[in-house]
Amino acid sequence: MMNAPGYAAHDPTTPLSRFDFERREPGPRDVHIEILYCGVCHSDLHTVRNEWSNTVYPVVPGHEIIGRVAACGHEVQGFKAGDLAGVGCLVDSCRTCPDCTEGLEQYCLKELTFTYNSPDKHTGKMTYGGYSTQIVVDERYVLQVPDRLDPAAAAPLLCAGITTYSPMRHWGVARGQKVGVVGLGGLGHMAIKFAHAFGTHAVLFTTSPGKAEDARRLGADEVVVSRNPEDMKKHVNSFDFILDTVSAPHNLDAYIELLKRDGTLCLVGVPDTPHPSPGVANLIFRRRQMSGSLIGGLPETQEMLDFCAEHGIVSDIEMIPIQKINEAYERMLKSDVKYRFVIDLASLRQEAGEALRP
Ligand code: NAP
Ligand code: ZN
Ligand code: ZN
Repeated sequence: MMNAPGYAAHDPTTPLSRFDFERREPGPRDVHIEILYCGVCHSDLHTVRNEWSNTVYPVVPGHEIIGRVAACGHEVQGFKAGDLAGVGCLVDSCRTCPDCTEGLEQYCLKELTFTYNSPDKHTGKMTYGGYSTQIVVDERYVLQVPDRLDPAAAAPLLCAGITTYSPMRHWGVARGQKVGVVGLGGLGHMAIKFAHAFGTHAVLFTTSPGKAEDARRLGADEVVVSRNPEDMKKHVNSFDFILDTVSAPHNLDAYIELLKRDGTLCLVGVPDTPHPSPGVANLIFRRRQMSGSLIGGLPETQEMLDFCAEHGIVSDIEMIPIQKINEAYERMLKSDVKYRFVIDLASLRQEAGEALRP
């Protein structure tokens, strides 16, 4: 076992604090990664505060992980010491079910293991995530990070990036379509970048009028303040696809009625309490669809990273030391994040008196 300093929540209300634990020694197919950067996802906050009623404490969050490979087991083929590597929301799955064999590991119903807050078959405890300086992951669940990407700004691609890229690909978002994105946070700003890169007419729906200028810089062709019913009405029956990234319950009918016939509203935000139930007439009369989507599988996550390298896409980040994580959560709750916090793990190395391997 090796010592791993981290930050954990011990209950739903106390601030995160220093928590040291052990990582397994790398097995034959494992990659040992020294974590450089870890993005801060709203899912971390939902989990820390037990908003989905499934948290096992202590919880070490973090699933937007970029680091350097420190060592590899002797059967590892795709990585060597010194490589830049990424770990997203998954660190294991059954590998044999139809979902796994199709590369849709996120839908595995057998042994899906999230990067944190999942039973860990190696330790018998729970998995611990990227708010830490070290992680050990089977190479099947490790991503190659193209050198052309800035490593800190690439970290959020591992969750915010793939969670927005995957549904747009699945529902065939393409050039010339009109695509909406609801909420300009971590997921939303990546969705706007992808919608723009895919050649769509991208429209941001926001509750924060002050974000309009940023949204245009990020790639939005139009910005609609969703609290303004008159502005919403102008877009009735016009969208091919709308991706809803909002982390809180809200009125879905307001978006369903903006879809064309056969248009799709895809939900990726996971509020702690349900959205008010939408009416059926809005769906039936225009054969509209309401759907959901969970992150993305390993092959598509690699495809997304390569797409980002090719198109110069990364996240817009604000770097923080890990000691500021509790303040970052408060700001995230106020929609005051531009547009993803990323933890620089050098801050934790320094606190723990730990050096990177040469
Ligand atoms: P975030 O950075 O906090 O962004 C959420 C955005 O939603 C805010 O910036 C805000 O945008 C808008 N918003 C917040 N409260 C609102 C309210 N009461 N009414 C209307 N809009 C509101 O969060 P995130 O990291 O992007 O995550 C968003 C959600 O996706 C979370 O629930 C997270 O757990 C979930 N998630 C799901 C998956 C998946 O696989 N499906 C993966 C990752 C995350 P404006 O200021 O522009 O209105
Ligand atoms: Zn996430
Ligand atoms: Zn499986």
